[in-house]
Amino acid sequence: MELYKPRTESLELRKMRLLNKRMALTPEEKKAYLYVQKGYEGEVLFDRLTEKLQCDVYVLNDLLLKHNNSLFQIDTLLIYQKSIMPIEIKNQDGDCCYYPDKETFTMILTDKDMKNPLDQLKRSKQLLHSLLKSLGVQLPLEGYVVFVNPHFTLYQAPLNKPIIYPNQLDRFMDQLNKIPSTLGNQHKKVAAELAARHIKETPFTSLPQYSFGAMKKGSCCVKCDSYMVTVVEDELVCHVCGEHESIEAAVVRNVEEIRLLFPEMRITTNLVYEWCGVFPSKKMIRRILLKQYKAIGYGRWFYFE
Ligand SMILES: [Zn+2]
Repeated sequence: MELYKPRTESLELRKMRLLNKRMALTPEEKKAYLYVQKGYEGEVLFDRLTEKLQCDVYVLNDLLLKHNNSLFQIDTLLIYQKSIMPIEIKNQDGDCCYYPDKETFTMILTDKDMKNPLDQLKRSKQLLHSLLKSLGVQLPLEGYVVFVNPHFTLYQAPLNKPIIYPNQLDRFMDQLNKIPSTLGNQHKKVAAELAARHIKETPFTSLPQYSFGAMKKGSCCVKCDSYMVTVVEDELVCHVCGEHESIEAAVVRNVEEIRLLFPEMRITTNLVYEWCGVFPSKKMIRRILLKQYKAIGYGRWFYFE
């Protein structure tokens, strides 16, 4: 296999994780955050399996594409010599029941329907098909929904649907590995074209409203996220897990937090001092900012980039 596009954590997930540390999320917001986090973990779990493929295949992880003004997402895309495989990954756990008359996936404990993954797959397949056609690519599409969580059970599982269950994963990977395939220049072109079309920032987001003023100030432990840290000489020391981190690394980490959540704000010594809370002197922060960032302007318009 050749990993043509790696998976990275979305901006949304990184922001949500920070907001969870620095403000009180409502139960709904917290749920949305954990849902995104869990989905990502499931995808990473599947990546560990595709990494082991020995056959000639291009792997593109996490594609967000637009075609005919419609956005669609593909968790994993495999490009073989004679077929292209979009895969929808689900990290759902618990007991679920499929009702063939309504075509719903209903969680037994809560009696709530999960988003129908077959519909999601169908939609992304249609849009991908149309996009590939417009690029002159003729390869047939073969899509799958893959449930990766070992604690997931589907009752009344439908036959003849392209679904892979956790206990079938090994066999599925084995099958993928045995698909005869020799990739050529054409395939490389398709992979490059799709990777180039990937949209980095997701427009649909479930981020809560937030502002600098309302954020909890302070510096968290790099390891356990606790705010129970103090500065001891040139280190930040955690009183919960005992982790030591250099002050320089801690300041940079905090600056990156501000930049992620408030990209429009100018990084100044005062701002970082307020955000971090824990550092005894502004001088110390200023020294690190001067070393790590580019200083711009002068006097009261002095800031860092
Ligand atoms: Zn800690």
